Parts: sequence; C-alpha cells; structure tokens
Amino acid sequence: MLTAIVSAMQEELAAVLALMPDERRETAAGRDFWRGELHGQPVVAVLSRIGKVAAATTAAVLIERYRVDRIVFTGVAGGLAEGVQVGDVVVATEFLQHDLDASPIFPRFEVPLYGRCRFPTDDALTRQLAAAAASALPDSRHHQGLIVSGDRFVSTTTESQALRASLPDALAVEMEGAAIAQVCHDFGMRFAAVRTVSDRADDEAHVDFPRFIREVASRHSAAIVERFLRAS
Ligand code: SAH
Repeated sequence: MLTAIVSAMQEELAAVLALMPDERRETAAGRDFWRGELHGQPVVAVLSRIGKVAAATTAAVLIERYRVDRIVFTGVAGGLAEGVQVGDVVVATEFLQHDLDASPIFPRFEVPLYGRCRFPTDDALTRQLAAAAASALPDSRHHQGLIVSGDRFVSTTTESQALRASLPDALAVEMEGAAIAQVCHDFGMRFAAVRTVSDRADDEAHVDFPRFIREVASRHSAAIVERFLRAS
C-alpha cells in the first residue's frame, strides 16, 4: 500500500524526509516527489505548495501518476473556535472552502455542481491519524471537526471573527485542505489531514506563525507521521 505524505511547509517535509533512509527525488508538474520507505512502508512525500490550486494539482498528480492508495496531510493552521489554541492538534472530519461564494446562483460556500459545501475525510483513515496524533503528542489538546480553507493567510482579528460568525463550527483555517478533499472526492481517494495550531488567525498571527514553524511544527509532523505508519 502506497501512502502519500503531503506537507505545506518545507520545514515539515524536511523532517519527514529525515525519517526516510533511501528517498529518491522525481520531478513532475514542477514539483519534487520523494519516493522511498518510512517504517518499512512505501511512501511518496511531497510539498503540496501553498494555496488551493497548487494543492489540488499536487493531489491529482499523486493519484493519477503515482497511483497512491491514500493521502495523509500534515501541516499547521490558524485556530478559529474558542477552545482551539496554539499548540493544539486538529484532525479534520470535513473541509469547506471559506472563500468560495457563487451566490446568489448557488448558496454561499456551495461548490457549484456538487450540491455541497463540505467534503468529508475518510472515516477509518481519520481515526487512525487521530490515534497516531494522540499518541505522538500526548500533552497537546486534540480536536476533531470542520477545517476551512481559503487562499488567504488569515491574520486579522476582524477576519477571524467574521469567519467564526459565518461558520460557527469551524475549528481551524488553512489554505489547502478543502482543495485536496475535493480532488480526493472526485477520484474516490482516501484522505485524512492533521493540523497543529500555529496561530490564532488574528492580529498576532504574523508573529506566532513563523515562531511556531521554527520551533515546533516540523517535530510535530514527523512524530505524527512516524506513529501513523508504524501503526497502520
Ligand atoms: N510567508 C509564509 C506563508 C505561509 S502561508 C511562509 O513562510 O511561507 C501559511 C501556511 O500555513 C499555509 O500553508 C496554511 O495552510 C497554513 N496556515 C497557518 N496559519 C494560517 C492562517 N492563520 N490562515 C491561513 N493559513 C494558515
């Protein structure tokens, strides 16, 4: 079974590659795909790149060219819901694009022609990933639920309040997950995603985000991926 490990940030990918003894680089669609083994399991590790379109392309290449069996995303996100604080872990059960709005023709947030706003992750894979995250980071608070994605780094309190008001059950915000979830829906691909909270998507986000990336994000991702592959 071939597992794709997708990260958004170079620091996270580097930490995953450090766990792969024999990775080989291949290039497709201008991206570097790293094939190898991690805990004896075949994996392809890749950067999603930042933003929805870039992430969708990466997912499509993983599915069509690499024929992966499942896609696991690890990364960071801004916390939205009140209890979701820096350092917490959020495992997605579903995704939505918070910046998609074809109203009044379609309801706000609905993806035209799909008749839905939300794309679920795979139940069983999500359970496995949540278990791996809980065991890798036993001292963190863990959450599961809706993550929203859009092509904006949300870094003002005004915008994060507006997001909370229009999407009260959103736990966190990032820039890739909903795109990958939609591509995986189209191809019938199993997908799960975990995000550590790097900032609160507020006026302090521009300070908190780089600090978190430097200090903890890469260790978190690698620890979760390692547990996940060991257990599954
Ligand atoms: N200049 C930055 C850009 C990072 S964009 C850099 O160092 O490259 C932020 C990344 O982290 C995206 O991949 C996104 O998925 C995630 N993210 C973390 N906090 C976020 C927030 N508050 N809003 C949107 N995305 C966030």
